[in-house]
Formats: sequence, C-alpha cells, structure tokens
Amino acid sequence: SIRVRYAPSPTGHLHIGNARTALFNYLFARHYKGKFIIRIEDTDTKRNVADGEKSQLDNLRWLGLDWDEGPDKPGDVGPYRQSERSELYKPYIQQLLDEGKAYKSYKTEDELEADREAQRARHEMPHYEYEYAGMTAEQREAKMAEAEANGLKPVIRFHVPEHTTYAWDDMVKGKVSFDSDTIGGDFVIVKADGIPTYNFAVVLDDHLMKISHVFRGDDHVANTPKQLMIYEAFGWDAPKFGHMSLIISKDTGKKLSKRDETVLQFIEQYRKLGYLPDALLNFIILLGWSPVGEDEIFSLKEFVKMYDEKRLSKSPATFDKKKLEWINNQYVKSSDEDVVMDLALQQLVEAGNLPANPDAKTVEWARKLINVYKQQMSYMAQINDMADVFFHEPAEISGEALEEISNETAPVVLKEFADRIEKLQIFDTVKILATIKAIQKDTGIKGRKLWMPIRIAVTHEMHGPELPESIELIGREKALEHISQTLA
Ligand code: GLU
Repeated sequence: SIRVRYAPSPTGHLHIGNARTALFNYLFARHYKGKFIIRIEDTDTKRNVADGEKSQLDNLRWLGLDWDEGPDKPGDVGPYRQSERSELYKPYIQQLLDEGKAYKSYKTEDELEADREAQRARHEMPHYEYEYAGMTAEQREAKMAEAEANGLKPVIRFHVPEHTTYAWDDMVKGKVSFDSDTIGGDFVIVKADGIPTYNFAVVLDDHLMKISHVFRGDDHVANTPKQLMIYEAFGWDAPKFGHMSLIISKDTGKKLSKRDETVLQFIEQYRKLGYLPDALLNFIILLGWSPVGEDEIFSLKEFVKMYDEKRLSKSPATFDKKKLEWINNQYVKSSDEDVVMDLALQQLVEAGNLPANPDAKTVEWARKLINVYKQQMSYMAQINDMADVFFHEPAEISGEALEEISNETAPVVLKEFADRIEKLQIFDTVKILATIKAIQKDTGIKGRKLWMPIRIAVTHEMHGPELPESIELIGREKALEHISQTLA
C-alpha cells in the first residue's frame, strides 16, 4: 500500500522548499488513495528551536494540508518523533555491530583532521581512513579496549562496501547512480551521545513506518546511496525515491538559500502579510509541477485529481515573485468577500491605521475602502500602502503631478468642484460623480483636464482607484481642505 511521509526537522519555521516537499508527498498520497504521515526528525538537538514543531504543523494546516498519522495523530507505527524512538533503534544498531557491518570508531577529531590534511596534501577528496586497517581481531579488540580505558567515547560507523554501485530509478530525475568509493568512506550512524544520525534513523523509520515512496529535496540526493547501503545491510527493500528539483530565485539566478533576502522564504512571513493560503499553495505546486494546458489556477482538490508524478519537473524551478503576486491577485479578486475583509481589516489594525476595536461606522468605511482596492491587491498588507492617503497627510504635490495641475483651467475646475461638494446634501459616490459631470456640462472642460486636477488636488497622486469612490472615502472635509491648500 502507498504510504508517504513528510519529515520536517523542527529547526525553524516552515520554509517554502520544505512546504513544497510536504505538498508533493501529500498530492501523491491523496491521488493514489494512500496515507500521508508526518514524522518529526528532531535528533539534531543543537539545531532544534522551541516551538519549531508547532510552527511547522500550524503552517502546514494553514496551507490546507491534513495528515493521517503524525505526532498529534498517532497511528500504529509511532512514536512519530525521532527523539522518542531511541529504544526502537537499539536492536538494529546491535545487529549491525554483531554482523560486523558496523563498528565502534574511536578516532578523535584531531586525528580525523590530521588525516584530512594529509589527504589534501595528496590532492585526495577528504575521506575517513579505516582505523583498524590490517589488524587481526585481537589487535582490534586491544585497540578498542585501550581507547575505552582512556575514556574515549566511540561513534558507530557503517562499513561501506567497496567498489560497489548504488543506483535507483528516481521518480523525478530518472536513473541515478553512485560509486561507493566516492562517498567519503565509512560514515557515522550513531553519534558519541548514542543518538543515531539522520542517514541511519531515516532508514529505520521509513522501514518501520512502512513508507513506500519518498519525495524530498534535491539536497538529499547524495544521502540516498548511504541509505541504500543500510537497506541492503538489513536485507530490506528500499522505498522509491523522488528528488525534487532545486528552486532558483529569478532575481539572483541562484539557488534559493535561506540567507537570500530578496525573497521571503518562510510560510509564516506570507501568512503575516495576509496572503491567501490557497493562492500560496497554488504557487508552490507550480514550483516543480506543471498541469496540462494553459490554466494555472487550481484548488488543492483539483491538483489532487490531476496529479501525475510524470509532470514533476527535472529542471530547476524558478521562484518568480511577479508570478506569485499575479496568482495571489487572481485569488483575491475571486475570493469570498468576507475572507478578504477579515484579513484586510486585520492588516489595517496591525499597521495602526484602524483602532484595535473599530466601531461599526469605521468598519463600514473600511469595508468600502477595501472593496475599492480589492482588484489591485495581491496580499492584504498592501492595503496600508495603497490606501495611505486615507490615513496620513500626503506628501506635497510635485513633479509630473505638479505640472499636470498647473494649466489655466485647473483652478476653475477645482473651485467649481469645491463650491459644489460643499453644498451637497448627501456626500456619496453617486453625488460626487454627478457633480463632476455637471462641471463638465457647465464649463465645457472635460477628460483629463477635468479629472486630473481633482484627483491630484484631493489625493496628491496621479493614479488610484475610481475617483468618486476615493473622494467619498477621503471625506468631504479633508477633500475640501486639500483643494483649498492646492488653490492657495
Ligand atoms: N529531516 C530531513 C529534512 O528536513 C528530511 C529528509 C528526508 O525526507 O529524508 O531535510
């Protein structure tokens, strides 16, 4: 049966690349009606952060994923945190030691460094050199006993078979193979503190959890031959592997790295900015997978249905911010009104543009404001910049706008407009529009010469949403004030 897993290390918030890995495991599981499992790989205790697990899971849920088994949803093959599985690993470690497929290694960091230095001098790739080379069993035992007596704590190393090819048919990359002589020698499977390394624990866990397929990042390709050796040592079948292509930043042309500041890389950051989760999810799926045809906007349900691992891309995926914004804008435009309202209101409050508990009148005003900008928004935090004129005094009119408003008919238009709106009984979009039309009729001034001066005087901008709506939102008092400042 099909069982896939996503195995995050709780070293921080959920990264875009990891979210993609999670998503493709999810799509595979749901498409083939298999199980999707979450396992927390928290054995690298130095790198774990408080709340790392919680944040990872929260973000996955926020994106719309669910799972069949995980630390919060125990199934038959738990525990679902590596740190809680140490007892399970012990007999397997002993088995490899007993069979001579692994051994205790006492080389100190200094000795290892000295080896590497000598290797560099000989122009060799760094590799571990077998510390018991040419020894008889007795000599080896004696050497170990001496190390123990000196208080050295051993690591356990796996005996890498020599001159052997490890190959697999990768679900993304096709045929991949490694020569065992190129992987750096016998590698550590249990650290001095007794905690298994990733390459070892992952094999035990995937086997014990009956994982059938593994999709993970391209950065794990070089780990796969090591894992295959361990499967072989136990006589187990390995799962099928698929290594997802790299993600390249369109701006820098380089592999997306966590240090790259030109791209937001954590799901949490997008969430805080008021992105819609469905939109972000849509974008992430397109990073590495392409649907048949031209359409690119799909729901998770539709992706599950259409999913086909043959359409996973082998070449690097480009992280294109413009595309991200475009997709998000598509979702904002077609989104449920209330969803957009709630998120946008929250952003206005967080930015201090609205009070924490706005009264009904303010909310009504804000809803109008949000509606006016909805068409242009990709994510909700943009409302604060886009609608800045409604919250702060705008900068002086300058440059092109100043030129535009310096023709001789502009003061005529502005005076007419001010006089007429001052007298309006009802100050709303309909009346404001009627007022502008009436000025056109009475003065013969029309088009840009009519609309631009009003827009610039009131908002200090040359572009913006529909003018009557903007003026209603700014309010009569402020509009008049801005016009009289301009005329002065
Ligand atoms: N904990 C590993 C990571 O976060 C998972 C690797 C795997 O999927 O095998 O990269």
